[in-house]
Amino acid sequence: MVHFVGAGPGAPDLITLRGKQLLEEADVIIYAGSLVNPKLLEYSKDICTIYNSANMTLENVISVIQKAEAAGRTTVRLHTGDPCLYGAVREQMNELDRLGIAYDSCPGVSSFCGAAAALNLEYTVPGISQSVVITRMEGRTPVPEKEDIRSFAFHGSTMVVFLSTGMLPELQSRLIEGGYKPDTPAAIVYKATWPDEKKFICTVDSLAETAEKNGITKTALIIVGDVTAPSEYQRSKLYDPSFTTGYREAEK
Ligand code: SAH
Repeated sequence: MVHFVGAGPGAPDLITLRGKQLLEEADVIIYAGSLVNPKLLEYSKDICTIYNSANMTLENVISVIQKAEAAGRTTVRLHTGDPCLYGAVREQMNELDRLGIAYDSCPGVSSFCGAAAALNLEYTVPGISQSVVITRMEGRTPVPEKEDIRSFAFHGSTMVVFLSTGMLPELQSRLIEGGYKPDTPAAIVYKATWPDEKKFICTVDSLAETAEKNGITKTALIIVGDVTAPSEYQRSKLYDPSFTTGYREAEK
């Protein structure tokens, strides 16, 4: 059996209880060493065999899993944040399907949630934005043309940009070309929830400069939109005394 487990954004106590238990029981752990906090490996058994996938190919990973399966051992494939975002899990799952190896998934706290926590931020503030676009700039991995940042920028909603810290001059011009005003609030969160976390509030047109000034080149999220520094917003209906909800009568 293989368990795909979300490690959370960095702080080792931000893995789920289920994820921790799976780590404690695993015979083999393959962890994404570039971003997973190695402190999480302290939850493993002494006899657990541990592999860092940072220096492995998909074929290497599958081969380790296949050998573990043949020996009746349980594998945890530990991915940063939640495996469902930029986790390259689809290709692993397809290989496991082909080999008839069973697997399941245990969610984790994605870094975009860790970053919101770092800033005490709500991405969906009534009257400002009710949508969050999660996207990235194209790198070696292409992004479909119809998902160009400019087309999402047109909506002016909250946007969280992964994997793009090295491309901020281009990102900020596309955001502005697409429709965000240059002075739209934005933020850079570096290593959210890690001990060396850093966060900067800036504006769309100062993203590149802010990152450069502070030496941020990777492991960061870019957050764009008025929710980053809300001025005028509407109260929620759910907690409004004049509204009746399924659980509470409106106050007269
Ligand atoms: N599955 C992960 C994302 C993996 S892609 C998740 O759910 O978070 C890797 C990218 O995620 C990094 O380039 C960076 O943009 C972002 N990232 C991961 N951990 C981060 C953290 N603790 N703080 C800020 N950004 C992070």
